[in-house]
Amino acid sequence: MSAILLDGKKLASDSEVDIKKQVQNLIGKGVFPTLATILVGNDPASETYVKMKRNTCARVGMKSIAVELEDNITTEELINQIDILNRDKNIHGILLQHPVPSHIDERACFDKISLEKDVDGVTCLGFGNMAMGLDAYGSCTPAGIIRLIDSYNLDVEGLNAVVVGRSPILGKPMAMMLLNKNATVTICHSRTRNIESIISEADLIVGAVGIPKFIQKNWIKNDCIVIDAGYHPDKCGDIDLDGVEEIASAFTPVPGGVGPMTINTLILQTLQSAIKATKV
Ligand code: NAP
Repeated sequence: MSAILLDGKKLASDSEVDIKKQVQNLIGKGVFPTLATILVGNDPASETYVKMKRNTCARVGMKSIAVELEDNITTEELINQIDILNRDKNIHGILLQHPVPSHIDERACFDKISLEKDVDGVTCLGFGNMAMGLDAYGSCTPAGIIRLIDSYNLDVEGLNAVVVGRSPILGKPMAMMLLNKNATVTICHSRTRNIESIISEADLIVGAVGIPKFIQKNWIKNDCIVIDAGYHPDKCGDIDLDGVEEIASAFTPVPGGVGPMTINTLILQTLQSAIKATKV
């Protein structure tokens, strides 16, 4: 059996070509799509992620504004900064890089981002709207996974989908998005009992655990759709993908599957916000 390789790298790259055209079109109409990135402190991994996001903006001709703040900033000062960006009509999206230093109330800061600029899908209001099937930008990694599934016309309706992980940015919104597509969803987490037997019943698995190769190949049933959101330094994910193409009906490779879709979705959602702003 040969499984479909869900090529996130290609989809993201094709999407960039389309986004670039739409950005040029908007600039021609006098609107410059702009993402504001907020980085608090100097954590090297966060610096790298913000840089990658700003580089992608540059590649598609979008503007990005970098707000860099000292790590001793208070919650109130960060909220004030977000408020300034909320009120700036030239900014269409706001990204607050996670995590912020632990003395800051990250949830309060995320929730200060106005719904129409929440292109990273981090606010409680955005999550609630998305879960209810209302208009909102999805959290970028799960929204990118849904775009990947849709681009290969995989029908998830009625499938027994198992999401392993329940973080606010990944597992929880992923489960809601799959539920909205009429999958029957189970969420597993660190207190789940008999995880292996739950996974072995799955028609679709999303690995979002943060532990290298946590989900073992022999737990996966034949013809399963295997989505691996994990990424670890030795270029493996949260699922043991070695030989998975012999079992799965479709799978995301690591790297080149879910990863490229995350930043692409952030940029796409910033473009969508800029388009909406032209209609106000
Ligand atoms: P996280 O916040 O650390 O959440 C991990 C989740 O896994 C938690 O819900 C935790 O359960 C659950 N978990 C931990 N140990 C478990 C176990 N032994 N059995 C079952 N569940 C367990 O991680 P995250 O931010 O969601 O990220 C998950 C993975 O996705 C990571 O590998 C990360 O690198 C990757 N990721 C990739 C992208 C991308 O752009 N490709 C973006 C974000 C994340 P509890 O809630 O009970 O603690």
